[in-house]
Amino acid sequence: MSPSILWFRRDLRLGDHPALLAAAADGPVLPVFVLDDALLGPAGAARRAFLVRSLRALDADLREHGPGLVVRHGRPEGVLPELVAEVGASAVHVSADFAPYGSARDARVEEALGDVPLVRTGSPYAVAPGRLLNGSGQPYKVFTPFFKAWVDHGWRAPAESDPAQVDWVGSSGRGTDADLPDEPDLGDMELPPAGEAAALERWEEFRGTPYDDVRDRPDLDETSRMSPYLRWGAIHPRTMLADLDARSTHEATFRKELGWREFHAHVLHFWPESARDYYKPDLKGLPWAEGRERDRLLEAWAQGRTGYPIVDAGMRQLLGEGWVHNRVRMIVASFLVKDLHVEWQHGARHFMRHLVDGDLASNQLNWQWVAGSGTDASPYFRIFNPTTQGKKFDPDGEYIRRWVPELTDPTLGEYPEPIVDHAEERSSTLEAYHQLRQGQD
Ligand code: FAD
Repeated sequence: MSPSILWFRRDLRLGDHPALLAAAADGPVLPVFVLDDALLGPAGAARRAFLVRSLRALDADLREHGPGLVVRHGRPEGVLPELVAEVGASAVHVSADFAPYGSARDARVEEALGDVPLVRTGSPYAVAPGRLLNGSGQPYKVFTPFFKAWVDHGWRAPAESDPAQVDWVGSSGRGTDADLPDEPDLGDMELPPAGEAAALERWEEFRGTPYDDVRDRPDLDETSRMSPYLRWGAIHPRTMLADLDARSTHEATFRKELGWREFHAHVLHFWPESARDYYKPDLKGLPWAEGRERDRLLEAWAQGRTGYPIVDAGMRQLLGEGWVHNRVRMIVASFLVKDLHVEWQHGARHFMRHLVDGDLASNQLNWQWVAGSGTDASPYFRIFNPTTQGKKFDPDGEYIRRWVPELTDPTLGEYPEPIVDHAEERSSTLEAYHQLRQGQD
């Protein structure tokens, strides 16, 4: 019986895996991952290391039931038809990808496969992007009605994929299987454990946390930290949703956060250009920093040397952990755009390089949300004050001390003076916005 190929991408797990169920229903399954330079190129060390570790974990899980993960290196539209020919595969199964690069790549692969079908089953979301439309048949542009429709639509129960029931096959060494790439040197950096078992364990550990009370406090550090697992598909959001009881305030709030993830994917699906360009274009006309001045400001921000402790703590956490608390992501993003007048795309690029959970939809659209150019009616004049935000959400300064130790121990280095004056920058931002609006009226 000819095998089918299960091409893993953002679904590096074996449980709750609809595409695995579909592939297994066709007969023997050959599991493959393609190392695609277009995706690996822009990824920083932490991101690459987490991917490599997630692949190793998947390979180890597969080896409990069969020959393990086949890894090939190259462009998927070249690699997959080759592999299909080599093993005589009857189909290539995938979880659908809705992001701009992924959907264009899949269209190229589909064409290159010719008569062999590319079968899309499931997606990294509870409700596939594109499915929810408003009463006029238009995509939702605002979160609250989207969220209501998303909850009303509901989602299927987790898929009962069981790797022990699958007839796994390998490529019999006939092809040119690549080794997994070596992990980049991370120095002292510690990443969360990768893989499906780690994701499920973290989820069990987190459940029961009084989320609503703690979610805005970077010092407490009690959010779920499920984002890297969701990003790489070590867990499906439906597995989590099935465990949540919306009658609990904490669980209802947590469910809403998963709803934001789905909303951003929905927006990116309908407005793919929002990955690079202003969703609402009017702010493009503000007087943005340029050239060397922009590079200087960007560098100080990226290195955590702005002289604003909560901003610097966040930027150092990004470099030190590949992850940043949500409240701090908002503060540092606001500071770059509204205090340093650097356009959001520069910050978003830096985040994508370093975040282990870096996800195009969530990252770019959250950046736009903070910049005031996104889907939200959030006015541009909502400007985070880095000092009061720090006091409010890190009241004892514990988070700041963790990442900016020289503030309390000057022997550890000299802490920079503030790079700009927040009050002045706030006024000039408001003035520029005011003028822009007058010019547009
Ligand atoms: P929790 O608070 O435990 O939330 C649970 C899950 O809900 C998260 O894992 C995530 O999947 C989802 N979620 C929560 N908040 C959001 C949100 N605002 N938007 C979308 N999904 C959300 N999240 C990413 O996954 N990848 C990114 O690249 C990313 N970039 C961001 C950039 C900026 C400027 C900002 C302000 C936010 C960004 N976020 C991103 C959203 C959010 O900060 C992270 O999802 C969250 O901090 C992850 O930590 P957690 O898993 O402990 O979150």
